[in-house]
Amino acid sequence: MHPNLTVIRHPVVQERLTWARDKRTGVEQFRRLVGQIARLMAFEITRDYPTQPVSVESPMGLCQGVALARGFTLVPILRAGLGMVEGILQLLPSARVGHLGIYRDHDTLKPVTYYNKLPPDIAHTDVIIIDPMLATAGSVTAAVELIKKTGANSIKVLCLVASPEGIRAMAEQHPDVAIFTASVDERLNERGYIVPGLGDAGDRLFGTA
Ligand code: URA
Repeated sequence: MHPNLTVIRHPVVQERLTWARDKRTGVEQFRRLVGQIARLMAFEITRDYPTQPVSVESPMGLCQGVALARGFTLVPILRAGLGMVEGILQLLPSARVGHLGIYRDHDTLKPVTYYNKLPPDIAHTDVIIIDPMLATAGSVTAAVELIKKTGANSIKVLCLVASPEGIRAMAEQHPDVAIFTASVDERLNERGYIVPGLGDAGDRLFGTA
């Protein structure tokens, strides 16, 4: 489906995703679950991350250790991506956070960027685009294009649930960008929602349904 797709099947992630999908889960718990899943998934994403040697002195003497070799930039796509930021920052507290607001124009069906604030040195960092739902992938493909223009060459996408349609769109337009998801669901419905998905992630995170 995509040459660079990883489905994180860790049982703790899968149990929390099941709770998040449950329509009886209220705003407070949903928010907490999205944060927890994002943090656990970020742990998996960084599993093979390059490190460089550093030495520190322990109370007992000199010790060889490691430091992460590059910095991270998290780029949540507004607004649902915001729900994943805090969880990932608990794991990567020095990451920069850029913000992208992108919507689909009703007439042209093309993505329109209405907010763009990225760190100036983003090209020297590993970029993780975050959006809980990879549905049509319209916003995410637009975000990848925009970020590639900065010169960044290490870009990953982290979502909770993806549709086969969204993954195919990414494979066509950005086969070089790795996608990490906790689930590939059945399909998109006629309104562009993932089925069975978890509903409108933004509404469930911010209590706006
Ligand atoms: N955005 C959502 O929040 N949910 C979907 O199912 C699709 C897009």
